[in-house]
Amino acid sequence: ALSNSLAAADMAHTLHPNTNLRAHEENGPLVIARGEGIRVWDDRGKEYIEGLAGLWSVGAGFSQKRLAEAAYAQMLKLPYYHTFTSKANEPSIRLAETLAEITPEPLTRAFFTSSGSEANDTIVKMVWYRNNALGRPAKKTFLARNKAYHGITVASGSLTGLPVNHRDFDLPAIPVRHLTCPHFYRFGAAGEDEAAFTRRLLAELEAVIAEEGADTIAAFIGEPLMAAGGVMPPPAGYWEGVERICRANDILLVADEVICGFGRLGTPFGCQKYGFTPDIMTLSKQITSSYMPLAAVMISDHVYGPIADNSARVGVFGHGFTASGHPVATAVALENLAIMREEDWTGNAARLEAPFQAGLRAFADHPLVGEARGDGLIGALELVADKATKRPFETPGAMGRLASAIGHDEGLIFRAIGDQLALCPPMIVTDDDVAEIMTRMGRTLERLTDAAKA
Ligand code: PLP
Repeated sequence: ALSNSLAAADMAHTLHPNTNLRAHEENGPLVIARGEGIRVWDDRGKEYIEGLAGLWSVGAGFSQKRLAEAAYAQMLKLPYYHTFTSKANEPSIRLAETLAEITPEPLTRAFFTSSGSEANDTIVKMVWYRNNALGRPAKKTFLARNKAYHGITVASGSLTGLPVNHRDFDLPAIPVRHLTCPHFYRFGAAGEDEAAFTRRLLAELEAVIAEEGADTIAAFIGEPLMAAGGVMPPPAGYWEGVERICRANDILLVADEVICGFGRLGTPFGCQKYGFTPDIMTLSKQITSSYMPLAAVMISDHVYGPIADNSARVGVFGHGFTASGHPVATAVALENLAIMREEDWTGNAARLEAPFQAGLRAFADHPLVGEARGDGLIGALELVADKATKRPFETPGAMGRLASAIGHDEGLIFRAIGDQLALCPPMIVTDDDVAEIMTRMGRTLERLTDAAKA
C-alpha cells in the first residue's frame, strides 16, 4: 500500500528529468528504498546490483558510514557558509589543496559549484572573461564533439552534442562547433583503419580551426572517454593530436573528468590514461561519491592570471554560487577522497580492468551485440539488428528499454543509452562482484534474444 501511494504521488506530482513523461504517468516509478555496498533494494524488497553506480558516480558504494559521519560532524560545527568576498571555511580550503595536489601538475586552483553543469557553465564564462581581459573578445567559440555530454544548463547543454538535449530547447545558445564523434566502430569510414580514422579526425579539427580562424576559438572541451553518449573510448593517438593542435593555435584544452576522474579508468584521471594534459578540468560525481552535490573547476596559473588581474581592475570576479565551497559538501568530498586513497580505488580499477573488460568482450559473439567496448571499470554493449553491417534497430531505443526491463528482473541495473547498455559499477567492486555482474548481464542477453524472436 505504501508503495502504491508513493508511486501514485510520484506520478501525480513529480516531473522526472530525462524521462518519457507520458509513459511515466502510465507506468510509474521504480522506487529505490535503500542501499548497501554495490547493491540497492526497491520498496518491494527486490535486490539489484547497481551496475551504473547510480549515475556513474557512487564510487564508495551505498553504505559508506564515514561519509554520513563527516556530513553530520560538519553540520554540527558549521552547517553553511559562503565563499563570496574572501570568506572561507576549512573543508573547502583543504579540498582545494587536496585537488591541487592530486590533479596533474599545471592545475593549482579550484572553483566550486554544486553540479557538473554549473562547473562547465563556469568554464565557459571564465574562458570568455579571460579572453576579454586579454583584449581578444572575439576568441569565444568552443569546440566540442557530437555525442558529448557536458551537462544540461544553457551553456553546458550547448556544449553537449546530443540531439535530444538540443531539440526543442533552442540550443546551442553559445558559439560552439561540434566535431565528429571519435568512435571508430560507428564513425570509421568503410575501409578506414583506426590510425586513418584518427588522422581524419585531427585533419577535421585543423580544418575547422582554419575555417573559423584561431583568433575566434577559445577552447576545446572533451570527456577523455565519452561516457553518457554511449561509452566510447578514443582511438589511439587522438588526444595527443588534439593537444598538439590546441597548443599550436592558443586554444585552451578542457578535460571534462566528471565521469573519468578519480580512478574510473585505472589512472587517477582520464587524461593520464590517454596521455594529455589539460589547462582546465571539470570534476564532480565521484568527488563525493554523490553523497552530496559538488563539482569543481580546476585551472592552471596560466588560466588564472588574466582572470585575477581583471578582477582587480573592475573590483570583483563577478561570478559565484550560494553553495560555492559549501562546507558540508566539501567535508564529505575530503572524507571520500581519503577513503579512495585508503581503499586504492584507482589500483582496484587497474586490477579489475582485465576481468571486467574481458567479461564484456565475451558478449561480443552474441548475435545481438555489435560491439563490446570500454576501458577501466566502464564499458558498454552496443546492440544491433545486424552484426555484419552494424545496422541499428528500426525503432531506436526499443531494444535497449526491453534489455533494461529484463535486467531489472535479473537484478542488474545498467543504463540503456538508446540501444547501448552501459556499465560503470561502484569503485569498491571485487572480482566476485564483476563475475556476478557478467552472469546477470549474460542471463539478460539470453532472455533478450528470446524476447526479440517473439
Ligand atoms: N560532464 C559530464 C562528463 C557528465 O557526465 C555530466 C553528467 O552526467 C555532466 C558534465 C553534468 O553534471 P550534472 O548532471 O551534475 O550537472
